[in-house]
Amino acid sequence: MKLPENISNQIKNDPLSQIVKDNYENNCEFQQLIEKMIIQKFDFNKLEKFKNIIIEYFQTYSLCQQKNELKCKQNIEGYRLYLKFQQNRLFLFLKKCIHKKNSQSILNNYLHCDFPKKWIKSDLKKQVADLDQKDRGILINYFMSILNPTNELKKKWLFLNGSIGAGKTFLSVFFANTFISKTDKKVIFINANNLFTFFRKYTFDKTELIREFYLNLHNVNLLIIDDLGNENRLIAFRDEFLFSLINKRYFRGLLTFFISNLSYSNLKSFYTFSNDKIETTKTKSFFNLFDKNCHFITLNNIFKNKMIK
Ligand SMILES: [Zn+2]
Repeated sequence: MKLPENISNQIKNDPLSQIVKDNYENNCEFQQLIEKMIIQKFDFNKLEKFKNIIIEYFQTYSLCQQKNELKCKQNIEGYRLYLKFQQNRLFLFLKKCIHKKNSQSILNNYLHCDFPKKWIKSDLKKQVADLDQKDRGILINYFMSILNPTNELKKKWLFLNGSIGAGKTFLSVFFANTFISKTDKKVIFINANNLFTFFRKYTFDKTELIREFYLNLHNVNLLIIDDLGNENRLIAFRDEFLFSLINKRYFRGLLTFFISNLSYSNLKSFYTFSNDKIETTKTKSFFNLFDKNCHFITLNNIFKNKMIK
């Protein structure tokens, strides 16, 4: 669309008039702004007053259009310049670009997260492109099968183990981000140590907030427990809290991931710390559930640092 002639005639300053003409034709955001100014009867003879603002705006103008664009184009990451017309004047504003908006809505879907917030940036697809498909293939396929809505998933748990630095936590976070951005469901990502601390609090203090978090642990769409087997050993925590939580999630068919530095057999010994037969039976029946419902994946290779930027 071309700038109406009566408007362009009013803009006397030549480079400005050219800038307005060109951008009116090519930039629909700017076109809407000019139309708003026309409707509000702005005197375009006076546009020269705002020449510097307009030039500055177009010098830095860029639009992050799709959230799956890898890099944010803005000078200030997550924010772009925005031209606003108000009370007969033009202003420059900072506005959130799609990257900032997207990471905020992802963050809102974490009811709890025990990892640096800066990891909430993007989704899985482009991150896995950087990974060695051979090593991660099984894990990625498992993640993809969860995300496929036509797939009726038989095993809803994941036991992900491997050496420190193998990328277990990173990959799980990136999966969780993808899970949220594709499904808009809720996630709790909690370290086993913090789960233990929460158990302690819950035992002594049942304020509304604590009860709410307790229920969330039992009902959230995806629960990820990081560093399992690194928490304090306590029979009450194991039997009355952890096993019971995991049992309930099993019967509700809810997705649950366990991340651990321990091998599965070491995890079993970690939770077998009583000679009492009843206790041992409890542990056994618990791990029977694990055997039935869990996908087991081990990551061994040292994770390439490409993903942390
Ligand atoms: Zn951006």
